[in-house]
Amino acid sequence: MNSSPRVIWKKIWNTNVLPRVKVFMWRACQNALPTRKGIGSRISGYDTTCYVCHQEVEDVLHAIKECALARDVWRCSNYKFVLSLKFRDVVDWWEYLLKEVDEVDVEIMFTICWAIWGARNSFVIEGTQPDSMSIIAYALKVCGEVRDVRANGGKGAILKVVQYAERWSKPSEGWVKMNVDVGVLGEAGTGLGAIARDSNGVVLCAAVHHVKERWGVKEAEAKAVWCGLQLARDRGIKRVVLESDSLLVVQALRGASAGRSTFHLLIEDITNVAASFDDVKWSFVRRNGNRVAHYLAHFQPWDLGQRMWVDHLPNDVIALVANDII
Ligand SMILES: [Zn+2]
Repeated sequence: MNSSPRVIWKKIWNTNVLPRVKVFMWRACQNALPTRKGIGSRISGYDTTCYVCHQEVEDVLHAIKECALARDVWRCSNYKFVLSLKFRDVVDWWEYLLKEVDEVDVEIMFTICWAIWGARNSFVIEGTQPDSMSIIAYALKVCGEVRDVRANGGKGAILKVVQYAERWSKPSEGWVKMNVDVGVLGEAGTGLGAIARDSNGVVLCAAVHHVKERWGVKEAEAKAVWCGLQLARDRGIKRVVLESDSLLVVQALRGASAGRSTFHLLIEDITNVAASFDDVKWSFVRRNGNRVAHYLAHFQPWDLGQRMWVDHLPNDVIALVANDII
């Protein structure tokens, strides 16, 4: 159930984002942003269709989450899980984020919302073509500055971007790193990819698993982790770093959230499989660091079922693996 704007506003006020972002959010919660729907409610006959995508009525939720531009930004970000979630309005959405996502990520996500809104305005007013990666980079830069100001006791801002690994890195000696990813293959179902490498970067095995099921994004990402872990166990690996580019899944595995949803039951299954290893670490890497698993997950399906390589990896996979250790 929705909290009143007053309750959610208190929570937003306590986040560590730019004052300008808070003002934007406050106005959004109060329905006080100049959206076409908002203007249309005061001027009869006003065209409320979105000026950017020309597809739907433009309200705040559409502008910063559902519009083609917004969806592209979220798809390029580390928060692609928002694509599969539906909300009544922006208060409903932000309330969910405040509850389910950890503090630092919520701050980044709120700042991305504000940056999307700004980019739309620049497009409408000045005709500036919006670019998804620039919007994300700008939001990350702003968040880094805010955090630095806080860390320095409010004195001076030094630019620092959020600290998440951008590149693949070798695991420590005695450990095997298993990278996993998921590919949404439309009619062909879902692809799950996994690749295990040792502390020298040598490939121990790689696998693709095609299933006809089509899950939600975070459930599919969790399934990929589950498959990767099963593969590690079948190959007799004892200490594994399980690495995914789904922040939500990694956070859930680290115990940041609990619940009884399908997603949480999957997390519980994974935790149970993990108990049979000597040691398991959950690692998050940005998409750039997870390219081999991403490639495997999107490998064109020839059939449903599983395929595994121990030697003689496909050439494309070898090229990507080499790229990770250059
Ligand atoms: Zn639109």
